[in-house]
Amino acid sequence: MLGDRGHYLEAELQDLVRSDSGIFEFLQSAALDGLWYWDVEDPEHEWMNDAFWLTFGHDPRSKQHRADEWQSMIHPDDLEVALRNFEAHCADPSHPYDQIVRYRHKSGSTVWVRCRGMAIRDEHGRPKRMLGAHTDITSLKIVEESLRAALASNEELEQFAYVASHDLREPLRTVSAYLDLLEVKCSDELSEEARGYISVATEGARKMQRLISGLLRYSRIAAVTEAKGAVDTQAAVESALADLDALLRESGAEVEVAALPVVLGDEVQISQVFQNVLANAMKFRASDRPPCIRVRAERDETMWRFSIADNGIGIEPHAHERIFQIFQRLDTTPEGSGIGLAVVRRIVHRHGGRIWVESVPGQGSTFCFTLPAHEEEHA
Ligand code: ADP
Repeated sequence: MLGDRGHYLEAELQDLVRSDSGIFEFLQSAALDGLWYWDVEDPEHEWMNDAFWLTFGHDPRSKQHRADEWQSMIHPDDLEVALRNFEAHCADPSHPYDQIVRYRHKSGSTVWVRCRGMAIRDEHGRPKRMLGAHTDITSLKIVEESLRAALASNEELEQFAYVASHDLREPLRTVSAYLDLLEVKCSDELSEEARGYISVATEGARKMQRLISGLLRYSRIAAVTEAKGAVDTQAAVESALADLDALLRESGAEVEVAALPVVLGDEVQISQVFQNVLANAMKFRASDRPPCIRVRAERDETMWRFSIADNGIGIEPHAHERIFQIFQRLDTTPEGSGIGLAVVRRIVHRHGGRIWVESVPGQGSTFCFTLPAHEEEHA
C-alpha cells in the first residue's frame, strides 16, 4: 500500500485537502487547540483560527489578526524563548521551533501550550511565512503540579516524623531514668499509693518508648538508601525465626517452611517483613491450641507471592485494611504498638509489591505479599 507518495490514504487525504475546503476546516478546528499563520515578511500580520482564541477565552470575532495580539498575552519570559527559537529556526531549519509556553487566559488563569511551528521558505531558503500549531496541555500541567506538591508534602511529613521521633527519645529517657531512681532510691520513703503512681507512670513511659521507636523505624524505611540486591528469603526466614526464639519456645509454635526463592530487595528490610508477620502469627494464637504456621511462595510472573498462614484467632473482615495502618491495633493487650504491619506494608510497597490478609475469624489468618523475583535467579 506504500507507493511513491507513501500510504494511499495519506495521498488521498492530501488531494482531498486541496480539493475540498471543508477538510481543511475540519483539521484546523478539530485536531488542534490553535493554528496560526504568520507573515514573516510583514510581521504585523498573522492569521489565527477560532480555536486559537477560544483556548484563551476570547471571542474570535473581536480579533484583528495582528501579531501583537498574541505577544501581549504570552508570558514575557516565554515570548523571549519563542522568539529565540524562531530566529534559530529561520537560520537553520533543523533547529526545531517547539516549546512549552504560558498564555494568560481572559479570566486571568494560565493556559499551558505546546507551540510548534515551521517556516515556509522561498526558493533561496528565506522564510516567508511561519505556520504554527498549539496543543493545550494545561490539564497535564495541573496534574503534574499537584503530584509534585503531594510528593513534597509527603517528604516533609516523613522528615517531621523522623526528627520528632528521634528528638523525643532523649527527654523520654530522662523521665524513665528518674522514675527508676525514684523507685529504687526512695522506695522506703514512699507510701504504697505513691509507688502505685510511679508504676503507672513507668508503664506509660515504656509504652511511649515503644511507640517512638516504632515511629522511628517506620520513618527510617524511607530514609535508608536503598541497597537492592539478591535476597535469599529462605535465609531471611531462618534468621527471623532465630530472633524470635524466645517467642517460639514460649508459644510452642510449629513452623513449616517450604522451599523459598531469591528475590530482589533490601535484605534487612525483607527480614523485617518476615519477622513481624511471623511474630504476629505466634502472638495472636488461639487459647486452645499452639500456633501452627506455614510459609510458602509461588511464582506469579515477575513476582513471587509469599503466604504465611497461621491457625490463630483470625481477623474480622472489617479490619483487614485497618491493621496495616500505623498505630491501628485490634488487640487490647498493652504490649504491641500497632506499627509492625504498617512497617511491613511500607517495605512491601517500596519493593513494588502488594500485601493483603485472608482470614476466617476463630480459625486463622494468612498474610500474603508479593516481592519482585531476582532476574538472575535461573541464570
Ligand atoms: P501490634 O502487633 O504491635 O499490635 P501490628 O501492626 O503488628 O501491631 O498488628 C496490628 C494488629 O493486627 C494487631 O494488634 C492484631 O490485632 C492484628 N493482627 C496482626 N497479625 C495477626 C494475626 N496473625 N492474627 C490475628 N490478628 C493479627
